[in-house]
Amino acid sequence: MSDYTPPLDELRFALKYVADLPAVAALPGFDALGDDLVDAILAEAGHFCAEVVAPTNKPADRQGTSVKDNAVVTAPVLDGVYAAYRGAGWPSLTGATAYGGQGLPHTLGFAVDEILQSANMAFSLLPMLTQGVITALGRFGSEQQKNLYLPRLISGEWAGTMNLTESQAGSDLGVVKTRAERDGEHYRLFGQKIFITWGDQSYTDNIVHLVLARTPDAPAGVKGISLFIVPKFLVNEAGEIGERNDVYPIGVEHKLGIHASPTCTMAYGDNVGAVGYLVGVENEGLRYMFAMMNHARLAVGLQGVSLAERACQHALDYARQRVQGGVAISQHPDVRRMLLTMQALTQAGRALTLASMHHFDHAVHAAAEGERTRHQQRVDLLTPLVKGWCTEIVNEVTSLAIQVHGGMGYIEETGVAQYYRDARIVSIYEGTNGIQALDLVGRKLLMNSGAHATELLADLQIIVSQCREAKLTAVAQQLERALGLCAEAVRDVLAKSSADPHHAGAVAFNLLMLMGTTAAGCYLVKGAAKAAELSLSEGDESGFYSRKIGIARIYAEQVLPRCHGYHEAVMAGAGSIMGVEL
Ligand SMILES: Cc1cc2nc3c(=O)[nH]c(=O)nc-3n(C[C@H](O)[C@H](O)[C@H](O)COP(=O)(O)OP(=O)(O)OC[C@H]3O[C@@H](n4cnc5c(N)ncnc54)[C@H](O)[C@@H]3O)c2cc1C
Repeated sequence: MSDYTPPLDELRFALKYVADLPAVAALPGFDALGDDLVDAILAEAGHFCAEVVAPTNKPADRQGTSVKDNAVVTAPVLDGVYAAYRGAGWPSLTGATAYGGQGLPHTLGFAVDEILQSANMAFSLLPMLTQGVITALGRFGSEQQKNLYLPRLISGEWAGTMNLTESQAGSDLGVVKTRAERDGEHYRLFGQKIFITWGDQSYTDNIVHLVLARTPDAPAGVKGISLFIVPKFLVNEAGEIGERNDVYPIGVEHKLGIHASPTCTMAYGDNVGAVGYLVGVENEGLRYMFAMMNHARLAVGLQGVSLAERACQHALDYARQRVQGGVAISQHPDVRRMLLTMQALTQAGRALTLASMHHFDHAVHAAAEGERTRHQQRVDLLTPLVKGWCTEIVNEVTSLAIQVHGGMGYIEETGVAQYYRDARIVSIYEGTNGIQALDLVGRKLLMNSGAHATELLADLQIIVSQCREAKLTAVAQQLERALGLCAEAVRDVLAKSSADPHHAGAVAFNLLMLMGTTAAGCYLVKGAAKAAELSLSEGDESGFYSRKIGIARIYAEQVLPRCHGYHEAVMAGAGSIMGVEL
């Protein structure tokens, strides 16, 4: 039995009314996607993940991973799970049809991914990293590379990893040292990468490592980084597996959480040099990596939502059963405050993430180029908010889940401590949230003088009008205030950043939290306004719509007031932060 129930009604509702999946499905290429198919896919994903994947979460965490004889040993309880996942066709859901994929929208793919990540986040990292490699090769690989690798990655026959980090090169990838020397038609790589997620496993016939490295005469810094495909096993043009390449895992990290995900130190070229194939042209590697990071960063934001959802379910279940003071603790106002705040934050994170995926699919599939550009600009702006905000709130939600459990929350046996441990990484990897905040201010605000943010705030204002029409007046007032604070904070950052080199960096995180809290709230309320309309037209026998409205009120009362604090911190500027001696 699993203690996780996929939130199918929530996902269906958010897909249809917040992410406007019907509009996505109407884009060229998605014509067969009706409500029935969406429901069937979600139900099947829910069934598979609840029955097959979710029960492995706790035992896999206990079993962990190790390295023996230069190969990763994975948690025994996961044996057969990847094969079942692949056998059911899940890896190919959003893959391009030209390479054997099912070609479904990423908006729907993210709803399915939420379920998989809730079921076992450590396991879900394997397909997530593979998706990163598919995205990068799909955009920048040669025709020959695409034909060789994409069908096998999309089918799940092979997996992929991302190899960026070295001990001296984390946030600053400009100082990557791994060496790539030309050797005829290919290159040979020498060096060591650390923290490589699922750097090795025996579930797939081959592993395609995407590796950042530097050629001998490359310019220093970020302008001298190239991107290489380094397969675990060399293959011929027909994709037949040949000899073992000179890349091996030499250790796994002992971590706070995600114990079932092997975080590997990878040795490249300890013997003859690892054979690597250049992607695109030399010295453009970092640009390729950044271009594919949108998807990966949105996917990590989704991990925040997924873990928060599982923590919400666990805490509510416990609170209904635990009796103190003669009643279930779920009846105590302070416990209700915690449970409802957790639900409001989680549902807002889901709304923000799926709304962003609406733009992600439009940026690829919209018919007119101008439309694609407009949606891409919106994805670019929303990405640091999704990654940053959703991965911050999951730390709060999983911590509250422990608090709801009282002392039992601190005891591993309960299982809720694992979500808290697992959640801690998501605000760190795929670019720390400090780096997300700098991205928001530096690339997404300053580079277009705030024009894209102004457009976003104007679009969110339309949701406030929908909210008023639905007679959610108090919620609309809170949202309107938050939007006003965002506009003022953005203006202030634009005005002060050129005069003070420290200003943007000092205020960036609080600006990210201000804009994330506001945007997520708006998308949550978009759903609540629709729920109010539907409850009038359809009735509300199950109480689903009135709960949606109630959660929007909780968000407005318990979460949106935080915007004033974030705003004040932004307006305080860099003076004290740079002035006080450390
Ligand atoms: C479990 C796990 C899995 C991972 N998986 C992968 C993977 O699959 N592939 C891969 O390549 N890497 C992976 N990583 C690496 C991860 O992406 C990095 O740890 C992360 O990018 C941060 O780099 P760092 O650890 O070197 O921290 P640092 O860069 O040293 O950062 C330390 C602190 O300084 C701040 N900081 C750094 N530079 C700046 C700046 N310019 N301005 C403001 N603040 C700054 C950071 O925000 C952070 O708070 C993984 C890491 C872990 C722990």
